[in-house]
Amino acid sequence: MQEVTTDRIVIVGAGLGALYAALKLAPLPVVMISPEPLGEGASSAWAQGGVAAAMDAADSPENHAADTEKAGAGTVDPVVADLVTREARKYILDLTTMGTPFDRTVDGDYVLSREAAHSFARVVRVKGDQAGAEIMAALIDRVRETPSVQVLQGTMAVDLDVADGVVTGVAIQDADEARSAPIMLRGAAYLMAGGGSGGLFALTTNPPRIRGQVIGMAARAGAEIADAEFVQFHPTAMDVGEDPAPLATEALRGEGAALINADGERFMVDLHPDAELAPRDVVARAIFAQTQAGKRPMLDTRDVLGERVKTQFPAVADACARNGIDPAKDPIPVAAAAHYHMGGIATDHGGRATLGGLWVCGEASSTGLHGANRLASNGLLEALVYARICAEDIAASVDVATTADLVDLRFTAGGLAPDAKAVATLRQTMTDLVGVVRTGDGLRAALVTIAELDAAYSDSRAFQNMCATATLIAAAALIREESRGAHERADFPNTLSGPGQRSKMTLTEALAIRAEAIKDLT
Ligand SMILES: Cc1cc2nc3c(=O)[nH]c(=O)nc-3n(C[C@H](O)[C@H](O)[C@H](O)COP(=O)(O)OP(=O)(O)OC[C@H]3O[C@@H](n4cnc5c(N)ncnc54)[C@H](O)[C@@H]3O)c2cc1C
Repeated sequence: MQEVTTDRIVIVGAGLGALYAALKLAPLPVVMISPEPLGEGASSAWAQGGVAAAMDAADSPENHAADTEKAGAGTVDPVVADLVTREARKYILDLTTMGTPFDRTVDGDYVLSREAAHSFARVVRVKGDQAGAEIMAALIDRVRETPSVQVLQGTMAVDLDVADGVVTGVAIQDADEARSAPIMLRGAAYLMAGGGSGGLFALTTNPPRIRGQVIGMAARAGAEIADAEFVQFHPTAMDVGEDPAPLATEALRGEGAALINADGERFMVDLHPDAELAPRDVVARAIFAQTQAGKRPMLDTRDVLGERVKTQFPAVADACARNGIDPAKDPIPVAAAAHYHMGGIATDHGGRATLGGLWVCGEASSTGLHGANRLASNGLLEALVYARICAEDIAASVDVATTADLVDLRFTAGGLAPDAKAVATLRQTMTDLVGVVRTGDGLRAALVTIAELDAAYSDSRAFQNMCATATLIAAAALIREESRGAHERADFPNTLSGPGQRSKMTLTEALAIRAEAIKDLT
């Protein structure tokens, strides 16, 4: 394989975690691997609700940490929850300084939305549902004026090279895998910020690139993966036949929007004291049950928002308009869709993976903040906090040159794109058998299908990475014989008593569980 060596720190990904880390590393030279033009292809730009932070004088980081731990169902690392929530305010102020136009009251205070399982209105927002797009736009402007950041647009990472437990390179291809053979890029340090795994499921709110590839790549290289079984399903993805499914932000329920079914029944009222504002996993399971029963769940914004939904929630209004829905007159059909992966590459409190030379931030990581269920709007916050932590740790522990030449990659032909049908089968298998409600038999069947696909389409590294993450999710879900947070086992409906253990697994261990499942079923 062709090799290129650089003095730059290599950042894989170009979402919020990657951009913020690049800015915090400046003036140290970085090269960012960005499959799409900056601002596209990342979940970050699609975030609607905003960033959670205790900004209200009556609120406190302690309340925020307590809500985070409660939502996480006994598996949150309290040290991480304390650290992240204590710092949250600082990041809102920093993003404001960087140019994010957060919504303000006439008195200049931040407008705060209330989201599920938060004991306070605590979510800082922009233009109603535009938080992700506006934060990203502000950071992209800053990155463009930062000379230490080189962006390699139109490229993707497919492999890590490891020697004696230390990462020594990352294999880069054209973002269209079919168009080039990989080049091994050797840098000063490696920061993985490649997002989560939602798109591994057929029904998802995540952009098409977010399919667990970066988690899978690290797992194939030997990094430990934590909490893989914990995937959050968003209760109110719009059920309008689009892939990915557009999101109807939780802030709508915070404004009082109701969940009804085809019989007009407000089904959450009998299920939970907080009704529509019950924790996300509770609402997702209720929506899933309504869908399974053929009762067509819908989000009704008519009474509480009327025409205002069109100006206050422009992303929702656009998606409705595209699909011929007038939310002032019609309830919006919804379904539970894979949304956020609490699991990911295991990190310590410094953002370090279990392989040397490798740091991770954002949704690709599993820091211990989210446990079995992420508290709404803690995702962007975690990406910011750990981007800063990783940047500082890299700067303190790696001898990085202060300047570096631009990286010049000249790709040659030789790649192979993942087979579209195989990807579709993998995604449908994940939704059908590893989705909102799981069973041992279903998970074993999923592992068999994943193994078959993995073997049949092993030429594509991108597909191998997806299969690795899918294997880890299904294997971890199979061995967790209880229901906890977002992980619901129909055959093990109870939560085991005592504090929940976080799962930690290497790909080798997951493959052994997969082999066992194949033996059981054949
Ligand atoms: C519709 C939606 C709404 C959301 N709303 C909120 C919200 O209101 N508040 C909140 O806190 N969180 C929200 N989330 C979650 C939040 O957006 C994400 O957790 C967060 O943005 C993750 O940031 P990141 O930088 O880790 O990943 P991303 O922003 O997803 O960026 C990942 C980057 O990695 C790149 N990449 C992927 N594969 C490769 C590869 N093989 N090689 C190189 N690069 C690669 C992608 O192209 C992208 O640039 C939402 C998510 C979605 C999908």
